Amino acid sequence: MTTALIEPTPELAAEADARFEGIADPVEQALAVLRWAGETFGDSFALTSSMADGLLAHLAARAHPGVQVIFLQTGYHFAETIGTRDWIASVMDIRVLSVEAEKTVAEQDAEFGPALHDRDPDLCCDLRKVQPLARTLAGFSAWGSGVRRDESVTRVGTKVVDWDAKRGMVKVNPLAAWNQDDVDAYVHEHQVPVNPLVEIGYASIGCAPCTRPVAPGEDPAPAAGPAAARWSAASTPRGDTPGMTRPQALSPEEVATAVAELTHWDGDVQGIYRRVEFPSFRAAVDAVVQIADVAEEMDHHPDLDLRYDCVRIAVVTHDAGGVTELDVELARRVDALFPGTNGD
Ligand code: SF4
Repeated sequence: MTTALIEPTPELAAEADARFEGIADPVEQALAVLRWAGETFGDSFALTSSMADGLLAHLAARAHPGVQVIFLQTGYHFAETIGTRDWIASVMDIRVLSVEAEKTVAEQDAEFGPALHDRDPDLCCDLRKVQPLARTLAGFSAWGSGVRRDESVTRVGTKVVDWDAKRGMVKVNPLAAWNQDDVDAYVHEHQVPVNPLVEIGYASIGCAPCTRPVAPGEDPAPAAGPAAARWSAASTPRGDTPGMTRPQALSPEEVATAVAELTHWDGDVQGIYRRVEFPSFRAAVDAVVQIADVAEEMDHHPDLDLRYDCVRIAVVTHDAGGVTELDVELARRVDALFPGTNGD
């Protein structure tokens, strides 16, 4: 593990966010955030990339040459994605860390049977993505990714510099304020490599068994655009306001990503949960009321389990058949109410 130049703290993240949030130009803001992260944490800073394109890597190479870029090599990637990784690595001043799961796909097949992704995608994602990412990030003090506020309703509050309390790390989101026009303009101006799959209709790039192109006439937003597009009139539950729509269940990959970006939550497509411990039984009861107020406002009703001074909150949209963006948004609002650590 590389020693950070400066110890990561929530205060450091908050101070940096306040400083960089005021930069209006998205390119200048991203470069400033990346330069700061590189200068502050040195080799203890890394970015993650799905290799959908080289935008973030290009910015990072300008701001902090030699920056490390983590790529989760699940063993299920399209050849085009591996090609994009190698393309980016060959034309930019970055160091790509291809992180593999403990077991090869063949070893996993031997232990769990073939095509685990079809039978238990949660376990497959855990083995091939969640665990390898957690192991890798444990060796760093700060990390960054290319999430944008305009991607979904759950990301509208994304800070350019944040505190990842779950990992005890600083998290930077240099593209938080970017929109698709900003992306297109930068990619065009700098001739940034883009995964060929994007050109033929793949709105997001993931493992081959779990990724499909967007059909003609289909809204690509579930993977890449505004969150409102995930909401489907077909899944409107009984009791909702006429015309109001409900979100659809997220994929295992999307849930894993959402959980990783939440501060205190755990779970899978069956539900996400968090425990919070309070100083007293009375404080825990008050907390339940606060959660209820937020939940009612969202017309959403989590399971709440109160045991003396500890509240366990579990959220899933049963009528959608799994965790939805509505659940993730509720989790975010609960975290805003109780930003402290989990009770477990
Ligand atoms: S996205 Fe699909 S193939 Fe990739 S790790 Fe998850 S379940 Fe497995």
